[in-house]
Order: sequence, then structure tokens, then C-alpha cells
Amino acid sequence: MKIKCPKCEKNAELSPDFSFVKCESCDFDMSYGEYVKFIAHNEKTYSDILGDYTGSTEGHTAGSLDEWD
Ligand SMILES: [Zn+2]
Repeated sequence: MKIKCPKCEKNAELSPDFSFVKCESCDFDMSYGEYVKFIAHNEKTYSDILGDYTGSTEGHTAGSLDEWD
């Protein structure tokens, strides 16, 4: 799935199983958990997008996302 790279704002790729995020434009490469923390720290508006993701990961990242509220 294509997502917006939090580092260079070009297209990054979120792996289908939500395990990692990778951007070929700037070599951004993090696990999804690290990515969530990275963007939560840098960009509050991303929380809306991630809210949608949470529904399909069945609690995989829900624990960390709950802390945002
Ligand atoms: Zn990038």
C-alpha cells in the first residue's frame, strides 16, 4: 500500500502485512511500530490515517495508538 513518506513526503510503501514502511526516495526504512511513533512525534494529523489502519491490523498496533488519545 502506498503511503506518504513522513521524511520526504513522497510515496513510501507500507507492506501488506503492516510489518514495515519503506521509501525508495529517501531510504526511509522502519518497522511499522517505529513508523507510527515517528509520525506521531512529527505530525499529529497522521493519526486520522492511522485510525483506519488500526481496524485491519486486529490490535497489532492498537496498544500504541491508544496512547495518542
Ligand atoms: Zn521518503
